[in-house]
Amino acid sequence: MPQDRDLATIVVDDMEVSCATIRAALNRAGYADVRLASDANQALEMLAERRADVVLADWIMPAMDGLTLTERIRQLDEETNRYTAVILFTAKEGVEALVEAFERGVDDYLTKPLNERELAARVHAAGRIATLQNTLLETTAALTHFNRRLQELATTDPLTGLGNRRYLEGRLNALLLETAARGGSTCCAMIDIDHFKAVNDRYGHDAGDEVLKSLATRLRRTVRPTDVVVRMGGEEFAVVMHYPELRLNTAIFDRILQTVRERAVTTAAGPVEITVSMGVCCYTRGAPPDPDGLLKCADEKLYAAKAAGRDRVVY
Ligand code: GH3
Ligand code: MG
Ligand code: MG
Repeated sequence: MPQDRDLATIVVDDMEVSCATIRAALNRAGYADVRLASDANQALEMLAERRADVVLADWIMPAMDGLTLTERIRQLDEETNRYTAVILFTAKEGVEALVEAFERGVDDYLTKPLNERELAARVHAAGRIATLQNTLLETTAALTHFNRRLQELATTDPLTGLGNRRYLEGRLNALLLETAARGGSTCCAMIDIDHFKAVNDRYGHDAGDEVLKSLATRLRRTVRPTDVVVRMGGEEFAVVMHYPELRLNTAIFDRILQTVRERAVTTAAGPVEITVSMGVCCYTRGAPPDPDGLLKCADEKLYAAKAAGRDRVVY
């Protein structure tokens, strides 16, 4: 939070003498950062160059008046996610005009001729408004960023960088609803490494981790970018794909098995050969199943693939 005396101010007045007088008064009140603009456009240029906490502007000015300037400042503030407090100098505008000014975004006004102590007090108050608003805007932005990061962390598997089970459930739900509305089919493949316990026992847990990471990369590269690949937990992965046609395209699942089988994973403990088993369940038409139902179905087929001798797909 800036100290009161560090407030950045801009004074806008087409009367040079008036500008200079106000600057002198602000300086005496302890405000050193005072820029002078002879018209509204110059003030906007100054603001674009470096923000200000408080802008003090004459209401009546040739070209652009104080109210229009206030509106432009509000626009600029919105674009840059900031708040600039605006004080207008008035001569003898009536209550109606003042009400309108407040409605259009002016924070405060000062009646000319200016009283020096009142000027300092009002700038102090306006600075407080700007500082509070800006602190709030900054806090909100930081929280939004932090929430997004938390969301990412909550749906990411830290070892492989793939999405996790929670992520899958969200995506699967959306895909099932889309399939119900637009047709086509959504398939879920549950993939489990065969005899992975033996891999850990033989090569060590670290090598096991390398295998998991490598499998994640291979799966990701084998399917389309739009397909969903997640690590469900342990040595179990899932792939979810959507097809515009109804007929099940089994080639992709065979290709996944082949990709895993054909090349050993290079680890620090040496090359590790693995195979996987897979259970595939698809939804094509009718009322969409809940995501858990489809996952359970794929899981049962996976068990069938294990029981049938592993390194195979069961549909
Ligand atoms: P199956 O063919 O029936 O799937 O046999 P399996 O040995 O793969 O199955 P099991 O469920 O008996 O063992 C899974 C192993 O996976 C046990 C555990 O040590 C290992 N594992 C689970 N999570 C991790 C992990 O994050 N890193 C490593 N290195 N191993 C893991
Ligand atoms: Mg296994
Ligand atoms: Mg398992």
